[in-house]
Parts: sequence; structure tokens; C-alpha cells
Amino acid sequence: MLREATVLAIVGGRYRLYDAGETFEASLRGRIKQTSDKRVLVGDRVSVEMQDEGVGTIEEIQPRRSLLKRRTPGKRRGVRSVVANIDQVVVVGAAADPSWDPHVTDRFLAVAEANHLPSLVVINKADLAQEVAPFAEPYEVAGYRVIVTSVPEYRGLEELRAMLEDQVSLFSGPTGVGKSSILNALHPGLKLKTAEVSARSRTGRHTTVAAEMHPFGDAGFVVDTPGLRDIGLWALGPLEVVQSFPEFERFAGQCRFDNCRHLAEPGCAVMAASKQGDFSETRLRSYRRLLEEAIAAGQP
Ligand code: GDP
Ligand code: ZN
Repeated sequence: MLREATVLAIVGGRYRLYDAGETFEASLRGRIKQTSDKRVLVGDRVSVEMQDEGVGTIEEIQPRRSLLKRRTPGKRRGVRSVVANIDQVVVVGAAADPSWDPHVTDRFLAVAEANHLPSLVVINKADLAQEVAPFAEPYEVAGYRVIVTSVPEYRGLEELRAMLEDQVSLFSGPTGVGKSSILNALHPGLKLKTAEVSARSRTGRHTTVAAEMHPFGDAGFVVDTPGLRDIGLWALGPLEVVQSFPEFERFAGQCRFDNCRHLAEPGCAVMAASKQGDFSETRLRSYRRLLEEAIAAGQP
């Protein structure tokens, strides 16, 4: 019997799959292992041949909607696919404790943009700040959805839940901003671990789970894996940075030079727009930091 399922985790060469409320295990058919150039990733939709004991063999990978790729700093060929079929990246920051840092949020958003993934911004711990509107504004101007939340006050959480419904969402953001608290409040059954996830494989060796997906609601999934929470620290190439600030796009076409990088070029329409207050100056500052970093690192 063939069955379609979603790959939740890969541990010690075994695949944990999910379909219609049921979790089961599978191995990979040797033929795809050898002939396919694509590895099975967490998030992949796969066709599975089921054996009697409720164990399956993965026969085929379904076409992917998206691919989150990680670039290793300084390596030309160091690009690795990490998770398949993510629909959106949820970038979580805290209004306080740790204090709001727009550059960190900008980095996370840029990595999502570079992977062609839509994202939304969550400003958590709103109970600890007098005012969060100034934090939200640059992102609203840029066209991002911003949701202000507080876990103890249960503020904004239903609005966030609605955004997660039927979607595969990657939770990202610095440590301590409240990602696990938010997810546990929305879905007490998740019981997300805060430490690095590791599992004992069949050979008895410890294997780190590179990514792990959790069913969320009726048809959604969330990815909140320690190793994937820090996507903001992933490297970007200069061209990726240039294309990662959506609010610049409207003006970029009007720069004097086609290949304007909006650093110090004459006739730069993006800089002019920023001066006029068409978008936040902090975003332009973040952009320049990211671009200079990418150039200095010699990223292709
Ligand atoms: P993570 O590292 O992003 O997963 O953060 P955690 O969920 O582990 O939360 C870090 C700390 O912040 C914990 O002590 C939480 O209780 C606390 N916390 C999380 N959300 C909120 C919030 O909305 N308001 C306040 N005041 N504290 C929060
Ligand atoms: Zn320009």
C-alpha cells in the first residue's frame, strides 16, 4: 500500500513520518539513496510503501514548494539544503529582556528573503515594554505583518495562531525571546525542549537532529529546532543582501546605476527615499552592515 506522508525528523538514518494524525517510521529505499541527487529532507512530502508492521519504505520524494538553504560563511560551495516545504518564517524578537535589536530582526528577515520565504515579525514580551509601536513601524512600512504578543497576558496569541494554521512555519529568533513559551502556550502538547535535541540512534551513538517538525493544529507544522533558530547568523552573498529588503525595490529601479548597491553611489534613489522618510533608516543601516559583511567575507 502506498501512502503519502511528511518527514518530521531524520534520526540515525531512520525517518520519522507523519500522516493524518499518525506518526510512524520508515527507511529509505536503496535505489533513491543512490540514484537521486536530492537527499530526503525534513519537511519533504514522500510516498511510502507500507509493510505490515506499520513500518514503511520511502519510495519517492514529491516536488518541493520551497527549500531553506544554509550558506556556510566563506565557502563558495558551502550551501546546504536544510528543510523542505517551509511556507513562512516567523521571526521572533522581544520588546525587552533581551532588549529589542532591529539589526538582529533585519538579519533574520534577510535570510528568509534570500530563501524566497515570506516572513512575519513577532514582538513578544510586550508586557515588559511601555510602547512597542516604534519597534513595529519599520516592518509595517516594509510590508511585513507584525504581531505583538505577550505570553503571560495571552496577548496576540490567537492572532498568531490564525497565521500558523495550515502552514509550515519555521520559528526563529535569538535565545530567550520566548519562542518555546509562545509555542507551548499555543499548543501545550508540543512540550518543546529548550536544549539541543539529540537522540540515541540504533547503533547507540548520539545523533543530533538537524531539524525537526511538529504537527500544529489540523494541517500545520512548526519547526523550532535549536540549530535552526539562529538563521539570522547564516551567511548571505552580496547579491542576496541587495535583494532582501523588499521596501527598497520600489526605488532601486530609479537609481542612476543599474547595479547600484545603495552604499555611496551618486544618484541613488534608495538613499534619497530613506532621507525622505519613505522607509526606516534603521533598515538601510542594517542593509549596509549586512552588505559590507558579505563583501568582506568574500561571499560569491
Ligand atoms: P526561547 O529561547 O526563545 O525559546 O525563549 P523561552 O521560551 O525559553 O523564554 C525565555 C524566558 O522568557 C522564559 O523565562 C520565559 O518564561 C520568558 N518569557 C517568554 N515569553 C514571555 C512574555 O511574553 N513575557 C514575559 N514577561 N516573559 C516571557
Ligand atoms: Zn541605489
